[in-house]
Amino acid sequence: MFIFVSKLAKKMNFIPIKSYSFSKTPRNKEKIKFLIIHYTGMQSMRASIKRLVSIKHKVSCHYLISRDGKIFQLVEDNKVAWHAGKSKWGQITNLNNHSIGIELVNNGHKFGYQKFSGKQINALVKLCIKLKRKYKIKNQCILGHSDIAPLRKSDPGEKFPWLQLKKKKIGIWYFLNKKSFIFKKISPENVRKTFFRNLYKIGYRYFDKEKFLKTDKLIIKSFQRRFRQSKVNGKIDLECLKISDYLAKNH
Ligand SMILES: [Zn+2]
Repeated sequence: MFIFVSKLAKKMNFIPIKSYSFSKTPRNKEKIKFLIIHYTGMQSMRASIKRLVSIKHKVSCHYLISRDGKIFQLVEDNKVAWHAGKSKWGQITNLNNHSIGIELVNNGHKFGYQKFSGKQINALVKLCIKLKRKYKIKNQCILGHSDIAPLRKSDPGEKFPWLQLKKKKIGIWYFLNKKSFIFKKISPENVRKTFFRNLYKIGYRYFDKEKFLKTDKLIIKSFQRRFRQSKVNGKIDLECLKISDYLAKNH
């Protein structure tokens, strides 16, 4: 079987494994604006790869990174892989068309959520740096699956080291100083409004800015998994409010 190996693939030592689940029509380089990070959420890497390459399940990704830091390429960048599903971020819906999907091998919340390994994160950092440069991807557009599909997904989850990535200039983070801890007296009603207005500015969707919905808790959890990982409880506290405020004003 002929497998196309790009210059980047050679340089990065990608291991090609062909997936049969992807959109056959190629896309322009300019279409690629986002990097979406996932975990595999299955009991083994073997089972994950099997699922991601088969034509039957209609799921795939561009890259998969093993726990020992090997990078597998399943779908070429110029083809749409099927990793995000129904999704929204800012003005964009169906993120698959506009993104590159990267899966990290991890059992996930269902089968025993693991700390991501150092080798795995180092490989991911290298890959993100290359892709960012190649497609001019902005830091605000490097997201987790749960950011763009908060009602359905919780990957890559609260153990994913976003702060470590930020130190390598990948993705966004916040900085709270003493000043940010001065928040005017604020009623519970306004806490919700302020928080969700901030989230809307950052890019989150699937909620009503003005009105309480039963699914609010899932959105708050998704925000916490990304930005306040020490406590994922679905409740808006002062710290969450301040972090959201910083991010809404600075990104
Ligand atoms: Zn995912």
